[in-house]
Amino acid sequence: MKAIVIGAGPAGLAVAACLAEAGVTVEMLERSARVGSRWRLHYDRLRLHTVRGRSGLPMLPMPRGTGRYPRRDEVVRYLEDYAAHFDLHPRFGCAVTKVTRDGNRWRVLHDQGETTADSVIFATGMADLPNLPHWTQDFTGEVLHSSAYRNPDRFRGRRVLVVGFGNSGGDIALDLAELRVDVAMSVRGPVNILPRELLGMPITSFGLLSRLLGPGLADRLTAPILRLAVGRPADYALVAAAKGPARQVSEDGRIPLIDMGTLGAIRAGLIAVRPGVSGVTGQHITFTDGTEADFDAVVAATGYRTDLRAMLGDHPALDAEGHPRMSGAGPDGLHFISYHAAADGQLRRIGIEAREIAKAIAG
Ligand SMILES: Cc1cc2nc3c(=O)[nH]c(=O)nc-3n(C[C@H](O)[C@H](O)[C@H](O)COP(=O)(O)OP(=O)(O)OC[C@H]3O[C@@H](n4cnc5c(N)ncnc54)[C@H](O)[C@@H]3O)c2cc1C
Repeated sequence: MKAIVIGAGPAGLAVAACLAEAGVTVEMLERSARVGSRWRLHYDRLRLHTVRGRSGLPMLPMPRGTGRYPRRDEVVRYLEDYAAHFDLHPRFGCAVTKVTRDGNRWRVLHDQGETTADSVIFATGMADLPNLPHWTQDFTGEVLHSSAYRNPDRFRGRRVLVVGFGNSGGDIALDLAELRVDVAMSVRGPVNILPRELLGMPITSFGLLSRLLGPGLADRLTAPILRLAVGRPADYALVAAAKGPARQVSEDGRIPLIDMGTLGAIRAGLIAVRPGVSGVTGQHITFTDGTEADFDAVVAATGYRTDLRAMLGDHPALDAEGHPRMSGAGPDGLHFISYHAAADGQLRRIGIEAREIAKAIAG
């Protein structure tokens, strides 16, 4: 029994470890030069929003010395140690280009040749293709996606617009505000805001409530405590979403802003809040409320999309945009891991799916 795992991020490593443990021969293909390549490139101040105890991969918890909310470099070190512990040796510099069915096996073409197996597991992540708002094409200042942002140093003395109110947008705006960069956030739609902890418990514990009770009921139960903890979005010139945070995750696949200090900086006037962008001329931006301002740089924290059609073609497992319809163990030896957002923490979810997939493959 042989399985091919595509990608050596947390999901690829977790599923490879579970498969090896179950006696399955595993071949891992990774296009970059090291494990956890994405985590090596994230911005410097990034910390997990999920606690250490809920962020470890199967069979090897994050070590005790790691912070309650591990830093980016601690996550990278953990992933390196995880690969070493389970003796996982991905084939690096090996980008998969095509995956096809060949009789009852899978044929995987990559830029070093080809290989076949009984099963194939896609673990290429949800952060593959950065989304950029179409209007950034007309902006003549600097435009960068949050995936290319590292730290605030080179923005000193410049006027920066951060677009998007997700966790990367919140972190980056705060990073800039702490260095007293003139920063505004453009928030196009209604929002949900969560504290990092509620009643002394990590907020992702409340994500579990959503799994147990259903997102609608979980939202109704937590709404009053959330209002006490973070106030109302209107307090920050933001519009409250009609649906609660649990429904936002389960219906839209979007994780709400988990506040790490951004709200305090808005309240202190260090981050201005603007609505969506309605027009751009050069470096001059007009917003949907009619206000306008000049900016030197735009940081688009506008998320990512996944499109596996280049590798899999118009396979029924993919939706019209090329995103896997399901995440976890699939039929015919074709599996996807970590392609749907989880309210109770993506890394935790990766562990659950990795075990499921290994069980399905090893029988
Ligand atoms: C900024 C940010 C913060 C996050 N914080 C948290 C958090 O606090 N807690 C939490 O639980 N989750 C968090 N997540 C979500 C999730 O845990 C991470 O995104 C995690 O890295 C997902 O792991 P992955 O292995 O699915 O994908 P990735 O880490 O993206 O790894 C995918 C790998 O596949 C490789 N690859 C892609 N295409 C190919 C190909 N064609 N051939 C070969 N290799 C390929 C890539 O090079 C990469 O190494 C965060 C995500 C982001 C973006």
